[in-house]
This record gives sequence, C-alpha cells and structure tokens, in this order.
Amino acid sequence: MTDCIFCKIVNKEIPGKIVYEDEHVLAFLDIKPVARGHTLVIPKKHATDIFELDDKSAEEILKVAKKVSTGILKSLGAAGINLLNANRKEAGQSVFHYHMHVIPRYTGDGMRVWPNSNYKESNLDEVADVIKKHI
Ligand code: AMP
Ligand code: ZN
Repeated sequence: MTDCIFCKIVNKEIPGKIVYEDEHVLAFLDIKPVARGHTLVIPKKHATDIFELDDKSAEEILKVAKKVSTGILKSLGAAGINLLNANRKEAGQSVFHYHMHVIPRYTGDGMRVWPNSNYKESNLDEVADVIKKHI
C-alpha cells in the first residue's frame, strides 16, 4: 500500500531498526518504545488489521513473535513479555498495517497493560453461546 508507513519500512523506502526478517514477516523496534527492546512484528503483505490478515501471515507472525520474545529475554534480561495487538481505532490502533507489539517487561517496571473497567458479566453461558454460533 503506497502511503502506509509500515509498507515503506518493508520496502526499505524508510529506515527501520530491523531485528528479524524472513519471507513473510518483518520485526523492527518501535520508534517510541515503552520499554527497552519494544518490537513490532508485522506481515510483509499489507493487512489493515486482524480482520484482513490471511491465515498464513497469522501463523508466521506468532512464530516470529515467539522467536523475538525469546531473543529479548536472553539478550536484554527481560523478566517477561506482553504480546499486544490493537485492531481498529476503537481499540487504540494508530497505524493501520497489522502489527503485534512485543513488549519486554522488567522486574518492578510498574507498567499496567491489561484493559481496565468496572464491567461485570452476568451471563457467561449466553456470551459463549452467541460467540460460538458466529465462529
Ligand atoms: P498502535 O497504536 O498499536 O497502532 O501502535 C503503533 C506503533 O507504531 C506505536 O507504538 C508507534 O510508536 C509505532 N510507530 C509509528 N511509526 C513508526 C515507525 N516509523 N517506526 C517504528 N515504529 C513506529
Ligand atoms: Zn502497509
């Protein structure tokens, strides 16, 4: 896609701090890291979000996220990893080329990453049933 910033990194039209590359996937450092080693894993083939992602890219992205996570643990001394992915602006997505954030967690870093709310579910069975019917 011509005006997509991540496609430009894939095509080497703009620089990226690439840590891993193969036929299907690219992994590079986030330009505004929230932690040392914060990396983005993207499909080389443009997909806006998870709803457009083909199954092959989905598989390859998780494999690479696993490799990158293991590399970060070994090289930077991270104590844990969060894998995060926002789909659509309502979910906080700001770059519209699918990407998985690999966020290193360091002991005592104090970061809170899990979505937070006062929501209480009254009927888990009904929710499970309705989702099941649409998969
Ligand atoms: P999200 O808000 O989940 O869509 O995440 C988009 C991420 O892309 C943000 O963390 C940005 O810092 C990062 N980002 C934006 N432009 C670039 C760039 N040119 N190179 C690397 N990371 C970028
Ligand atoms: Zn793109």
